[in-house]
Amino acid sequence: MSRILHRNARATPPVAVRGQGVYLYDRDGKQYLDGSGGAAVSCLGHGHPEVVEAMRRQAGSVAYAHTGFFTSEVAEELADFLIQRSPGLGKAYFVTGGSEAMEAALKIARQYFLERGEHKRKHFIARRQSYHGNTLGALAVGGNQWRRVQFEPMLIDAHHIAPCYPYRDQGDDESEFEYGQRIANELEEKIGELGAESVIAFIAEPVVGATAGALTPVPGYFKRVREICDAHGILLILDEVMCGMGRTGTLFACEQEGIEPDIAAVAKGLGGGYQPIGAMLMSDEIFSAIESGSGFFQHGHTYLGHPMSCAAALSVQKIVERDDLLENVRSAGASLKQALGEQFSEHPNVGDVRGRGLFIGLELVAERSTKTPFELSVPLHKIVKQQAMAAGLMCYPMSGTIDGQRGHHILLAPPYIIDHDHIDEIVKKLSLAIDETCREVSAA
Ligand code: PLP
Repeated sequence: MSRILHRNARATPPVAVRGQGVYLYDRDGKQYLDGSGGAAVSCLGHGHPEVVEAMRRQAGSVAYAHTGFFTSEVAEELADFLIQRSPGLGKAYFVTGGSEAMEAALKIARQYFLERGEHKRKHFIARRQSYHGNTLGALAVGGNQWRRVQFEPMLIDAHHIAPCYPYRDQGDDESEFEYGQRIANELEEKIGELGAESVIAFIAEPVVGATAGALTPVPGYFKRVREICDAHGILLILDEVMCGMGRTGTLFACEQEGIEPDIAAVAKGLGGGYQPIGAMLMSDEIFSAIESGSGFFQHGHTYLGHPMSCAAALSVQKIVERDDLLENVRSAGASLKQALGEQFSEHPNVGDVRGRGLFIGLELVAERSTKTPFELSVPLHKIVKQQAMAAGLMCYPMSGTIDGQRGHHILLAPPYIIDHDHIDEIVKKLSLAIDETCREVSAA
């Protein structure tokens, strides 16, 4: 009997004992193709000897030095690496994951305005169907009803507007561009409702991951969002925890939108799973307000800037760049999306195949022509996951795609090193898992 509270309190998952390239192996020797990088984490695959060596070296020099006393060479080098390649950001703050990065983003945004004497600013605006983490601040700004509902009385006030979700919401009479402008303008309406002088920031994932299945923005949407934020003196916080660090084919997902955020959060692909790490990156303007104001960011954790995490992340990022893996993200991503599109072009239960780079979502429907979702009572996501694991494939299915309750999708986010054989394997195994799932559901 396991003494761990597992994600499913009634079951113990298989024991992972080895990882090699795009595969994980359990204690019984079963092989799983990591088609989702866990949760869009393992960008470099498993067991990369150079990353392991970088971690070993760091452990042998300095494994831990509290940031209240020291900085470290690896943390400084990682900050230089990220800032030099970032869309206009100036300083980095290293934490242990995505939720911590988002908490830090929320706090520094509020503190920025306090340093400027704008004490009335307290509101955050985000989008429905977004996910920003599970700590209370990050959960509050997240827009996924299912994750929020039981903690609602403990959450800070946050306001939500529509996601950019053309498959469901684009009108027949509007172009993609018109749809994007209409939906972005909801931000301006919300700011008007709350009063611009009381709003701190707008928060969004450039490509929505876990809760909506690789929802990509339509052209012009984020440009309009940036314009609105600027017009009202509101910060733009981009949550690139899942979609950043090369997952969509550029190091930062927002590069493809032609905009620069005031604050960005990155995590998963930063350390590629070799160590827990996330980062909050801020503009020079935000940093200057703090430097010339109180002089310190009123926040902190014991494991800020952990040298082992920074060493692993620096090694991962250098390899991704040296081996030009983002070129493979773009080309293998296009091949995978095309192969999935062809495989499921007539499938009655696959309504949409979408995404960018190696960040691909499939929306599952009960009826393709009407886009009708499966009944709420059907635990489709759980069955697909079981069937995929049985077939030797890790994928990341979720329910609540449409509104936090209705709808299902599967997210794929394989390592950046996948080749054509892996793509064929993903498509075959996923197809088998979806067909088995649909059979099981219709037989029930
Ligand atoms: N933000 C986004 C967009 C995420 O996808 C996630 C995790 O899935 C988080 C934040 C939270 O990150 P973590 O689970 O590392 O705390």
